Amino acid sequence: MSLHLSMTERRRYSRNIVLPEVGLSGQARLKSARVLIVGAGGIGSPAALYLAAAGIGRIGLIDGDTVELSNLQRQILFRTDDVDRVKVDCAREAISALNPLCVVDAHHVRIGNARITRELVRGYDVVIDGSDNFCTRFLVSDCCWIEGVALVSASAVGFQGQLMVMIPGDENPCYRCLIEEPEPHHRSATCTQAGIFGGVVGVMGSLAAVEAVKILLGSDPGIAHRFLAYDGLRCRFIAAERVRDPDCPLCGEQPVADDAAMEAESILRDGRHGARSLRTVKQSQQLRQISPGRKANAGNLCGQQL
Ligand SMILES: [Zn+2]
Repeated sequence: MSLHLSMTERRRYSRNIVLPEVGLSGQARLKSARVLIVGAGGIGSPAALYLAAAGIGRIGLIDGDTVELSNLQRQILFRTDDVDRVKVDCAREAISALNPLCVVDAHHVRIGNARITRELVRGYDVVIDGSDNFCTRFLVSDCCWIEGVALVSASAVGFQGQLMVMIPGDENPCYRCLIEEPEPHHRSATCTQAGIFGGVVGVMGSLAAVEAVKILLGSDPGIAHRFLAYDGLRCRFIAAERVRDPDCPLCGEQPVADDAAMEAESILRDGRHGARSLRTVKQSQQLRQISPGRKANAGNLCGQQL
């Protein structure tokens, strides 16, 4: 793709280009960038729209669902006439209507196979995970880490949201440094039972888009060592430090990366752990509070993702 920006592109993205953190060179970088969004739902909707508006050259969308009436309360990619249509087809139309310069890869599939997931994420610079179940999150995070692709993981339930960024390499922690393995029973906990406030997923999807663009621009990846929680009821953000776990099954000193990915795949497929369970879930000991007196709840990570 040409790194040259036409006069039309310079006008369209002028409010980006005037920012010293972006400039012409940064905007050209965004034009050549590829971002994959897993889940065209409440998180994926604002993320996709903001990325397209920002001038990301190629956006991939993975979702195996069709639009339901109850989705419209928060999934702003869709309109009433889209009900019963394939989500990624509707999303492609919405993104193209916003910015026809953005190329959209519509993957109408369900994540569930480690090999295919690795092939999918390999084609992108950054992945945003806004999927709707915990096991998909593990599979996507494992595959991104193995393939060396940066991952922005955003989720929400009720009025609570969480955000983590995983950048493979250096001393950065992976997703499993915080929670080692998926728990099958979380598959059944969805927004259907727990409820979700639409604006909260909007906040988290927008944050995910901001972090993805920052990664593409090479901005400070300090978020890679933090866990960010948003409390929509109290209008409060909480940041907690994440550290790398030397015993992590994915990025530790004796990694079993492929086994970990296969484990997540087997849980997605069968709804239970395979013969080789990695370890029990470990959570809050990895969290060291930045804000005194504030307790981030790692257990919320096990909650529902949209
Ligand atoms: Zn790790």
